[in-house]
This record gives sequence, structure tokens and C-alpha cells, in this order.
Amino acid sequence: MKSSPHVIVVGAGVIGAASAHYLTQAGARVTLIDQGDIGSGTSSRCDGNVLAIDKDPGFDSQMATVSQQLLHELAQELPYFEYRRPGSYLVCDNADEVEMAREWVRQQQAEGLPFAYLDYEAIHRHLPHLAEDVPGGLYCGSDSTLNPLLYTQRLAQSARDRSADLRPHQPVGDIGIEGGAAKGVRLASGEWVPGDAVVVAAGIWTPALLEPLGIRVPIRPRKGHLLVSGKGPLFGDAKVMEFGYLMSKFGRERVAPPDAMQYGVALVYEPTASHNFLLGSSREFVGWDTSSNPKVVQSIARRAMRFYPGMKDATIIRSYAGLRPWTPDHFPIVSEVDGVPGLWIAAGHEGDGIGLAAVTGRLIADLVLGGSPCIDPGPLRWNRFTEEGGMDHG
Ligand SMILES: Cc1cc2nc3c(=O)[nH]c(=O)nc-3n(C[C@H](O)[C@H](O)[C@H](O)COP(=O)(O)OP(=O)(O)OC[C@H]3O[C@@H](n4cnc5c(N)ncnc54)[C@H](O)[C@@H]3O)c2cc1C
Repeated sequence: MKSSPHVIVVGAGVIGAASAHYLTQAGARVTLIDQGDIGSGTSSRCDGNVLAIDKDPGFDSQMATVSQQLLHELAQELPYFEYRRPGSYLVCDNADEVEMAREWVRQQQAEGLPFAYLDYEAIHRHLPHLAEDVPGGLYCGSDSTLNPLLYTQRLAQSARDRSADLRPHQPVGDIGIEGGAAKGVRLASGEWVPGDAVVVAAGIWTPALLEPLGIRVPIRPRKGHLLVSGKGPLFGDAKVMEFGYLMSKFGRERVAPPDAMQYGVALVYEPTASHNFLLGSSREFVGWDTSSNPKVVQSIARRAMRFYPGMKDATIIRSYAGLRPWTPDHFPIVSEVDGVPGLWIAAGHEGDGIGLAAVTGRLIADLVLGGSPCIDPGPLRWNRFTEEGGMDHG
């Protein structure tokens, strides 16, 4: 790789924007291309949770912790993107979840993470608006929150300030492979953009870009709905999720009402810097439809009132839905494509792309430019999904 290579990043969601930020910081020339506006994909249809509390102990939570540390630095470096660090809570619905929560805390504490179990008295002292029968919960002190669209835009602006070429409204048609290596992209307009490396950070659209090259990427859209309240009294300043959110996210067994099970609904309460709150969320494989389904909206509202009875009087002003880029093992793909030098994938972050953007962008810069990686890239390799561990040339 040249000392100042030209890297083309396809997709200006939070992952592409973070990659562009760290690549330009490390001295690369970058062209950041999107078919729409900056952040117009899933990165503007989500919450802004930056969580360790919902990560599996081990690599998952370590990766999240590195990202939280990098984000903390970004918050000092970039203009304001509503970054706050109030910590977050998981609340339990029943005695079984209390047992699981205690074990979860033990495992995370063993890894040195700032987790605490909160018994009945403590959880109600911390969260006085909770329903009286909530039996316990837990707290993670390092968790933070931000405005995801603003964050994405700030990262892209930072890259632009270091001379990155930002090209919104330019769909990429094809990735150009010459002599077996990635050499640039052809825009739908017919324009050829040459480069020394291509990073595909196209979220749920990543498979469509790579399949014509015979490269299989098992990313599927997993729909999630959110409700937005009007401005008014908040139900606390920190993020609150139910413990069942973990089970829903990881597809584990959980006891909940039939509608919550059907739509993968679990409470997520997120107060924003604008003094309203977001309520989530659902998880469904229903194709590419991003319209709001009233039944899912009702299910989310019901679930919220189970934990916060006072929400029956709250005003909800709108709902929207986005598509998470799901992978079979819940880890993103941050990797070169074996057998195609210069072709990289940074996609598949499911419900964690906002939180993991910083570590992903930094890792892409480290790997593409040949630096030492900020985390072990092994678990994020693309070829973990291919039977033969390599390419399927079509
Ligand atoms: C309801 C909901 C709640 C969520 N809450 C959280 C949360 O609290 N915390 C968290 O960490 N994560 C959360 N997520 C997940 C997070 O939103 C995603 O993981 C993240 O936004 C993915 O970012 P991305 O950059 O990979 O994809 P995207 O933001 O979708 O960006 C991909 C970009 O690629 C562009 N593109 C596609 N094809 C082409 C092409 N051919 N040419 C040019 N450009 C192209 C698209 O236009 C798009 O802008 C949530 C998701 C949902 C749906």
C-alpha cells in the first residue's frame, strides 16, 4: 500500500463515515460515496445507545468497551453530537430474569466492567417511575448516548475537513476488479472512480453490491420500530431496557406476552437531549418494508406501560422503522475479502452499529493502512461464514 493511498468508502452511514474519519486521520485520501444523503440509511432510523450492558461477556463486551473509549475521545474532538454518559439500566420482569441478571453481572464484573446488580429497593430508588412489581435490575456505568444522525454527519464532516471527497446521491453500480484486486468503483452514472482500496460499508445493501462478484455476505434486514414522545416530563435521564431485550436480540428463550414474542418487542426507553423520549423496540425478519405497523406500535406501547404505568398519559407524536443489518453470529464483518486484495467489508452491525462505529472505523483504518489493529480482528473475518473459508466465485 502507498504511503497515502486512495481509499473509496461505499456507504456514508455511521460505519462508512467513521471509517472515513479514521482513514483520513491516518493519512489516507478518501472518497466517501452514498446513493442518498449522508446517514440516510439505517443510521437515521435508530436510537443512539452506545452500550456495553447488552453485550455478551468476552470479545463482544471488550469490543464495545474499546468503542466507548474511542467515542469518548471523539466527543472531545468533534463538534457537539448530543453525547452524554448517564449509564444504562436493565430491568427484570420476573424472578427467573433476576437470577439471570445476577449471573450476567458476575460475568461482566469478572471482566472488569462497571456493572452493578440492583435489588428491589435499589432499582426503585434509582428509577422511581418503575412499576411497583419490578423485582430488580442492573446498572452499567460506562454506557452513553448520542444523536445518531448528527454523529454520522460529524464524522463525515471531519473526514471532509481533512480533504475527503464526499459524494452523496451517487449510487455505486459495480466494484471494479482488475487482475484479481479491487481497483475502484463504477457509479450508476457511468463514471469510473479509481482507488487503491474499496471499503464496502453499505449496511443491509452490502450483499447486493458483492453478490455480482460471487462474494456471499449473509447480512439480512431485521426490522425495528421506534416511537417518539412529545416534549414533556421524562421518566428518568438514563437509558432503561428490560432484561428480555438481551434474549430478544440474541434469539434466546424468554417469557413475555404473545404479541411481544411475535414482534420481538422488548422495552427500550431512551431520553433525548431534546427532552422527549424514544420507545422501542421490535425485531422482525419481514423483508425490506420500513412502514410502521400499528400492531407493532401498540405492542411497544403496551410493553412500555408494563414497566412504566405512568406512560399511559404520555403523548406519542410519531413512529418509524429501520432495518438492522443482521448477521448469523451477531458480530459484524470487518475484514478484507480473502482472495481479492484491496476489497474490504465493514458491515453487519445489527443493533449495535452506532455504538460500534468508532471501533469499526478505527479497525478499518488500522487494517487497510497496515497498522497494528486496535482489537483482535479474528472474530470479525468475512470467511467465518463460508464453508470453505474462502470465496465462491460466480
Ligand atoms: C430501530 C433501531 C434501533 C437501533 N438502535 C441502535 C442503538 O441504540 N445503538 C446502536 O449501536 N445501534 C442501533 N441500531 C443499529 C444501527 O442503526 C445500525 O447498526 C447502523 O446504523 C448501521 O450502520 P451502517 O453504516 O452499516 O448502515 P447504513 O446506515 O444503512 O448505511 C449504509 C449506507 O450505504 C448506502 N448505500 C447502499 N447501497 C449503496 C450503493 N450501491 N451506492 C452508494 N451507497 C450505497 C446507503 O444509502 C446507506 O446510507 C438500531 C437500528 C434500528 C433499526
